[in-house]
Amino acid sequence: TVAVTIDQVGKSFGTGPAALDNVSLEVRPSELVALLGPSGSGKTTLLRIVAGLEQPSHGRVLFDGHDALSVPVRRRGIGFVFQNYALFRHMTVAENVAFGLRSRPRAELPTETEIRSRVADLLALVQLETYGGRFPAQLSGGQRQRVALARALAIEPKVLLLDEPFGALDALVRKELRKWLRELHDRTGHTTLFVTHDQEEALELADRVVVMGKGRIEQVGTPDDVYDRPASATVFGFMGESSRIEVEVKDGVAHAGTTAIAAATQPVPDGPGLLYVRPHDVSLGLPGTPGLKGEVRAFRRHGAIRRVEIGVGSALFEADIAPTVRVPIGEPVAVRLDRARLFASG
Ligand code: ADP
Ligand code: MG
Repeated sequence: TVAVTIDQVGKSFGTGPAALDNVSLEVRPSELVALLGPSGSGKTTLLRIVAGLEQPSHGRVLFDGHDALSVPVRRRGIGFVFQNYALFRHMTVAENVAFGLRSRPRAELPTETEIRSRVADLLALVQLETYGGRFPAQLSGGQRQRVALARALAIEPKVLLLDEPFGALDALVRKELRKWLRELHDRTGHTTLFVTHDQEEALELADRVVVMGKGRIEQVGTPDDVYDRPASATVFGFMGESSRIEVEVKDGVAHAGTTAIAAATQPVPDGPGLLYVRPHDVSLGLPGTPGLKGEVRAFRRHGAIRRVEIGVGSALFEADIAPTVRVPIGEPVAVRLDRARLFASG
């Protein structure tokens, strides 16, 4: 298993802003790295450059320190899985998995017996051992993506590239496959780049998360790093739900109108700022207990919890509370903001 170095890679398509703007990243051997970012942030472009399907405008890609860009796609040792299962419809599952093995250069072509045994191993690995004779149309979406993965693994790739592989599947199947892929990775240990726009998927699956925005890397870190210590407002805003409040910063304290609502945990210049807080980091108390003076504005059921909207001065927060707690609209409450994060705006 290999290390992948992406060094100052840029890519422009004609005029307009660069799709990738000097992106550098070190992926360690056997690491599972998630590229997380909104649509259009350059995730697919970066993956295609590593695969050799696209040439960068400048920069280098190295596998174990050796230039990969000069190695033709077929020799680069890449397993690639796309969002839309690119299985061959007229081939059985077994034939699909064998496809990469059969297209090896003549000198490396395995025998039929070797191919059959390798396909059986791979189908067992993705837990589809009895499905070899079926056609893609006879499989569920999740099963098709497992076949696509088996096919990508057949050539014993140096690097596995997965571009939103579960993006077209429904939420429950996605969750299952996410766990399954993590377990598969722990057994096989391929260096893996996994693209997703789903922060939950990235946080649950990856050893490290690369948060991308507009062709740049915003932050690289463990799931705990990017979730608990976001480097920018963009990253915080992308890590799941949060209330975003426009504030005025004075001496490191966020003010909404005349009310001081939170102190910065890192240096923030005076002037307009943005305060971010997650609904589960807002707690409510009876009026008169410590906290800001707030008022319940609205509430709604939100999965296992109840989500409440609370006005504090000119600001509006969301808070998650137990569904058993009664929250009459207009009721005064004390509001405590745990782990609120203040950033300079703009
Ligand atoms: P993501 O996968 O994060 O959604 P992409 O890498 O697909 O982002 O796209 C990044 C940017 O590059 C987008 O603005 C997109 O329109 C542009 N882009 C990607 N591929 C091409 C292409 N073949 N021709 C022109 N522009 C492209
Ligand atoms: Mg994409």
